[in-house]
Amino acid sequence: MMVLRMPKFARVIVDQSGGNAFDYEISAAHAEKIAIGSRVRVPVRTRLVLATVVELLDETDATGVREIAEVIGTKPLVNPLLIRLGHWIADYYCCSLEAALRSILPQVVRKGEVEHQRRKFARLAREISDDEIAQLERRAPKQADVLIDLKKAGGPVAVAKLPAARQAIEQLAKRGFVIVEDGQIERDPHGADEFLHAPQLVLNEEQHAVFERAQSAVRNPQAPLLLHGVTGSGKTEIYLQAIQLVLDLGKSAIVLVPEISLTPQTVERFKSRFAASQKQVAVLHSHLSHGERHDEWHKINDGRARIVIGARSAIFAPVENLGLIVVDEEHENSYKQEEAPRYHARDVAVVRASMEKCAILLGSATPSIESYHNAQSGKYELLQLRQRVDSQKMPLIRIVDMRLETTKQKAPTVLSDRLCAAIRDRLTKREQSILFLNRRGFSTSLICAQCGYVCDCPNCSIALTFHRAANRLICHICGHTAVAPTKCPDCADPRIKYSGAGTERVEEAVARFFPEAAVQRMDADTMSRKDAYRETLHAFRAGKIDILVGTQMIAKGLHFPNVTLVGIINADLGLHLPDFRAGERTFQLLTQVAGRAGRGEVEGEVFVQSFTPFHPAIQFARHHDFEGFWQQEIEFRQQGSFPPFTHMVLITIRSPHETKAAFSAETLTRRLRDAIPPETNLSEPVPAPLAKSHGNFRFQIMLRTRAILKLTRTLRDVLEKLTFPEDVIATVDIDPYQLL
Ligand code: ADP
Ligand code: ZN
Repeated sequence: MMVLRMPKFARVIVDQSGGNAFDYEISAAHAEKIAIGSRVRVPVRTRLVLATVVELLDETDATGVREIAEVIGTKPLVNPLLIRLGHWIADYYCCSLEAALRSILPQVVRKGEVEHQRRKFARLAREISDDEIAQLERRAPKQADVLIDLKKAGGPVAVAKLPAARQAIEQLAKRGFVIVEDGQIERDPHGADEFLHAPQLVLNEEQHAVFERAQSAVRNPQAPLLLHGVTGSGKTEIYLQAIQLVLDLGKSAIVLVPEISLTPQTVERFKSRFAASQKQVAVLHSHLSHGERHDEWHKINDGRARIVIGARSAIFAPVENLGLIVVDEEHENSYKQEEAPRYHARDVAVVRASMEKCAILLGSATPSIESYHNAQSGKYELLQLRQRVDSQKMPLIRIVDMRLETTKQKAPTVLSDRLCAAIRDRLTKREQSILFLNRRGFSTSLICAQCGYVCDCPNCSIALTFHRAANRLICHICGHTAVAPTKCPDCADPRIKYSGAGTERVEEAVARFFPEAAVQRMDADTMSRKDAYRETLHAFRAGKIDILVGTQMIAKGLHFPNVTLVGIINADLGLHLPDFRAGERTFQLLTQVAGRAGRGEVEGEVFVQSFTPFHPAIQFARHHDFEGFWQQEIEFRQQGSFPPFTHMVLITIRSPHETKAAFSAETLTRRLRDAIPPETNLSEPVPAPLAKSHGNFRFQIMLRTRAILKLTRTLRDVLEKLTFPEDVIATVDIDPYQLL
């Protein structure tokens, strides 16, 4: 007889705790059900709390060990590999394992409060002949109808979906024709949509060469693949065919897409390619209801879904037998989570792929400086698509020097003459235009011409934005709103002036210049209604809108063949921020926005309005020269010891009391100076560029090092030993993307 050795103790991490592990005894009754990753209830003082098992032990040094009270479910909810990934995240990003597990297991599943939805289903009890149905038809036509429906369905049908009365079904059940039983229904966010099968396209030569490499990586994973392919070069088609191969091999795939590109259009492309096995595609994004998220997650965990498409957190999808991870638009900053754990989903993806020994494909038209560096140094394998599909030309990019334009028009202007002429030309040709400005609202500040007073947010160190539709001043950091004054609140002069343009003002200017055109604005203000986004894109695609004005919402991944003109209203917006990535971001944004033009038969044209037209980010984007941009950027990074040549760590200290925040930052810096490894560079604490936010004063300490793991260990020690005053909060951001 085989004797199974049962573990005696479990090490658990309690939810919402500081993240320390505690040991509990496993009773004989629970021993068989428990495994690493099990969710359990354990006693803490006088309460029972939820926890995750992270280790099984034969013995423990702990004293006063208590027993696990309950094991939730029959199967561990977190697979051991994801727990390993959780450990990596905790170590690398200097957070608790509890915080890492919180990201790994979605809240709806973790809390166990949302349940599967159950319904009554009916199915045929046995084979029923047409004769039998015909006989029934005369006496009980309703019952016959049910049998016909069930026969046609060939499987269980939800009772609610059968048109016949309950009674008829009950009768059939009583007479042994039909079995009614409880079943689980799935809340599928796309359940109501029908996806027609879209066949594979024949790859062009360039695509074929790339696919060959992807194929061999799926079969035999080596280094991560970085696919640099210009906008419209057919990267997605390669993802789709690689995923097909993964399915054919009996494995699964995760596709990460930035939240903003997870549009109905994107989902449709995947769902329709795999229409035959549509149920196998799970979609995870932030607009799911609790119920939908719960069901999609279980669909993946049970192995029913083999393709997962999702935003950042989908990297933690409990997929087994992973064959491929795709990270589309790998350069996107939204892959970085801006709350603890502050992980970067692309980097976590690379780690997960290496743990699972599966292929990983990062794709972008504008790879991040870091990833391209990895490709140059041989850490990644570089694949390239240099041409648009069908050899369509890249759009022609023209730079408009707004300094000259302002002199010419004798006033600050939103639309240059050249851009206006181009729009007019498109209107007569019945082609469409996109105007891009990455700033909402009407004007970005309200300044008194007399005394210079600016309407600032009382909670944040920034000016309030005027929103004309709402007729209010709104803070874009904390959401504070105020009445828009008609005269200066300080000196009562009525000549208070709106300055700096947002999308609302662009929309107004366009409507004034082109009263005959159909103009639509697309930004967070106009798109707050759930279906607004889908409807607007639909109308635009159908040609009902001539000019679409919008923020980055329209910059990414959209594909409209009839758009031949793109206007970038202010290319300098992000260029002069105190952030070493400002140039990179501008280059990426210009390239992505320009990529929306000319994706059909007609060549596209792009107008870039700028006050610094000779900035390298603008000039390289103009010439579609990624390589050139990267060359000069990597030199700048090397000279300044920026990533990828060092790792940065940003510690932010905030408090409603300025002196307390400043004092705590000083203290922490002193402690760090004594403790950090010698090769670390430590800055003096300084007020953050955004010196105040949500009523908190903010100070920053910046560290740079080549040996990040060594530094995070030290950081953890120092922070654990230091107690800050009650209303002071310190956050640690490893490889930060938000430096403000
Ligand atoms: P990217 O992701 O690189 O921006 P897409 O994958 O969106 O490019 O491709 C752009 C367009 O070209 C899409 O409409 C796509 O269906 C089409 N396409 C891609 N590959 C091919 C191909 N081999 N033959 C014909 N059309 C293609
Ligand atoms: Zn504010």
